Amino acid sequence: MLNLGAEMPLPTAPTGGAFWGPSDSKVDFCEDSYAVCRFIAEFYNSLSSLIYVLFGLWGLRVARRTNVVPIVQLIFLCQAVIGAGSTIFHGTMRWWGELLDELPMLALGALFLLGLRGCHPLTTGRRGAALYTTMLCGIVCAGIAYVQFQAYEIFLHSFTAIIAVAFLICHASRHHSKQTRLLLYLTSAELLLARLVWGVERAFCDYYPPVAALHVVWHVLSAYAAYHFTHFIMAFRYEKLGYSAVWCDSPALFAEKSAGFRQYRFQPFTNFKVSSKTVCRFGSFLPLYRHAADSGPANEAER
Ligand SMILES: [Zn+2]
Repeated sequence: MLNLGAEMPLPTAPTGGAFWGPSDSKVDFCEDSYAVCRFIAEFYNSLSSLIYVLFGLWGLRVARRTNVVPIVQLIFLCQAVIGAGSTIFHGTMRWWGELLDELPMLALGALFLLGLRGCHPLTTGRRGAALYTTMLCGIVCAGIAYVQFQAYEIFLHSFTAIIAVAFLICHASRHHSKQTRLLLYLTSAELLLARLVWGVERAFCDYYPPVAALHVVWHVLSAYAAYHFTHFIMAFRYEKLGYSAVWCDSPALFAEKSAGFRQYRFQPFTNFKVSSKTVCRFGSFLPLYRHAADSGPANEAER
């Protein structure tokens, strides 16, 4: 995923003998171009971008198998596309590669917001229609303006705004379960830490070149943030349907809960292979038992 620095300078002099041609991207990064491999501009940044592809495809695979709501599948697919775009971008440092990274990021922001449809008064009914219409028009205009004027700030501010709106809505909402709140706090912490790492990389790049490695850390942290935020959206939606997500806290609980969940159409993150070898991975959570106290379904979230 692209570094979110607005103040980064334009690339300096074209790299002599650059395999993909002189860099014409709108941002530059700390890693030296073509220092490791003559075919890949930023070797480590490009390679580490594959984590978005891995997380996205893994999420998509499980989401498809368990028939999770389509918007969640789309979000994971978009993360994989961003990863491919980021890999190409860092590998070439060309403008067209940059667009392959950044335009899907705008789409991901829109999908995050769409994933919250029906989960908050602002995303429900007429207010929701107004919000989504505004968002769609804004993103389309921003995308066109960015391609036309090639001003990085257009992308940066548009993406920041849409992510900020999504997080504000999430933090302003009431979450019934501790697990859902934990997912949101975890995502927020990962995002803030990623932003801090990015800031350190940018601030010390000229004085201490080894901080170039921090861009890899940025990729990992932001990939986790996107992955966990998608989990959060799913858990949040289930809450609105009257269910409560629980962490996968033990194989026994896994087995007990799973047996009763097969009947539900929208199964979240688990393969439901109940066995003694079942291992709960960090970040996974079990679905969902009917929350007795809050069982009033809010079908808006299911549509
Ligand atoms: Zn990057």
